[in-house]
Amino acid sequence: MKRSKKKGKLTVIAGPMFSGKTGKLVAMVEVFTRMGYKVLTVKPSIDNRYGAKSEIHSHDNKRSKAIIVDGQKPATIVESILSSGANKVILDEVQFFDKRKIIDVALKLKAAGIHVIAAGLLYDYQRKPFGATPDLLGLADERLELFAICQRCGSLARHTERLKGGKGQVVVGAADKYIAVCESDHKIYR
Ligand SMILES: [Zn+2]
Repeated sequence: MKRSKKKGKLTVIAGPMFSGKTGKLVAMVEVFTRMGYKVLTVKPSIDNRYGAKSEIHSHDNKRSKAIIVDGQKPATIVESILSSGANKVILDEVQFFDKRKIIDVALKLKAAGIHVIAAGLLYDYQRKPFGATPDLLGLADERLELFAICQRCGSLARHTERLKGGKGQVVVGAADKYIAVCESDHKIYR
């Protein structure tokens, strides 16, 4: 499939932790690959929840290979992506990349005719906008907002609540440190 004949596209998948973002990405990789597309997955090195392995690994144990790149220097991969002949590029945990730089990378790849799929958290544990995700959502051609289930009341949950681990915006963890909750049940960790 010739990339140059196709228009680029930006798809954004946003939702809290435990909303199934990675499972959705792994399913996309499977379908796109079966369709004959070359898919590359890129994730920031900061996300080492599963031992900084070069794969995306959902909470329900689905996995797919990924390229790990320094979250502060995402532009270093643009040239190798363009020369790889990839048609589809997944940017996972997009909130952990440098905000301005990853938006630039996403738009450059799209301009080169690539379908860019960015997935990440819209809000941090204080319900503040997280990294580039909200801006990318605004720029997206396709948007998918996923919800988790509130662990306090069972409603749809769009927020992630931190249970422990300090006050930095980025504290990597999984169910050991976070739960998904709805807006009215969300408490800001102090
Ligand atoms: Zn609730």
